[in-house]
Amino acid sequence: MDSQCGRHLYLKENKKNMKTNLLNLTLSQLQKEVKQLGYPTYRAKQLSDWFYHKNVFSLEKMQNIPQKLKDDLQTNFVIELPKIEEVNHSSKDNSYKFLLKTHDNKLIESILMLTNNRATVCVSCMIGCPLTCKFCATGTEIGFVRKLEPSEIIGQIIVIKNYAKLNGIADKITNIVFMGMGEPFLNLDSIEKTVEILTGDYGFAMSKSRITISTAGPKNNIADFINKYKIKLAVSLHFANNELRSKYMPINKKFNLDQLLEELKKVELLKREYITIEYMLMQDINDSISHAKQLVKILSNIKAKVNLIPYNPTKNLPVKPSSEKTMNEFIQYLISKSIPVTVRRSQGSELQGACGQFALKRKV
Ligand code: SAH
Repeated sequence: MDSQCGRHLYLKENKKNMKTNLLNLTLSQLQKEVKQLGYPTYRAKQLSDWFYHKNVFSLEKMQNIPQKLKDDLQTNFVIELPKIEEVNHSSKDNSYKFLLKTHDNKLIESILMLTNNRATVCVSCMIGCPLTCKFCATGTEIGFVRKLEPSEIIGQIIVIKNYAKLNGIADKITNIVFMGMGEPFLNLDSIEKTVEILTGDYGFAMSKSRITISTAGPKNNIADFINKYKIKLAVSLHFANNELRSKYMPINKKFNLDQLLEELKKVELLKREYITIEYMLMQDINDSISHAKQLVKILSNIKAKVNLIPYNPTKNLPVKPSSEKTMNEFIQYLISKSIPVTVRRSQGSELQGACGQFALKRKV
């Protein structure tokens, strides 16, 4: 008991001494800090211009910032990006898998996927994941380490963008998906700031339609968030009844399928917009025609398209991918019921690219 208590105090103390990373701050937060240091707020815009438009992260190189402000910033803040630890390229599907190291020496996993003129970065929002879905390497094998800060999520994009440019892989990043390690709706504070920086004119000025957030649906904060930020939503449904979903996705016991579907009905969509329902086909678990029927039934009041995902086998987990034949039958059934269907042809699987599998090779 005593040692637990002491540990808590130590952590608090430690955090107090840590300097804030300037890349954690949205423009309005940056303006507040600059004002507090006694400078006019336009200095904040100059700083964000260096970071997000000129790709400069060293105060020394910022010619239009007065030396006194640079000194004050240096005293009170840091500007820090994750560092590249390892990169693996898959020639099969032209994806690049990155392991990045945080300031506290933890590993973040991100992927750059290159398809039809798109350069998409799949970012992690946590180190590990607290959800413990039975088919997923992250939750079952790594566990939950900690949430990532906005600077560490934005940092993944900046570091990968620079790597891609330097190596002649891509000129710019066109799309972002929050589909790496972790559950975004359990780290919403960081996600909100990240989305503000990604979409703000002072930041990356990205179109909202090029950003997708994927969730297992842990609570009732999804509709409000999507209706406010207007980015695209993908839901890791994977099961169409509560019994099965609770067995494989324990979060379903706290926020069940019926509650999740009610939440999805509240999401406001434009004429041509859909919610993407991710359904991973797992052999003899959720891949029969009766499962497909259940899926069609529960989606009847939701404007959804289904993205079928072939399961990417993970060592130590007793789940296998469905056969090609079963998969085709499942697809045909959904099509026969006029459900829009797409199939994800395992981006990154050659590299052990599914959630958490790369980081697992190295200890997080
Ligand atoms: N927590 C969020 C985002 C992380 S998981 C979510 O659940 O959506 C990203 C996606 O990868 C999810 O759809 C997840 O179910 C899927 N996934 C996990 N393990 C996988 C595997 N072995 N093969 C294929 N997809 C997997």
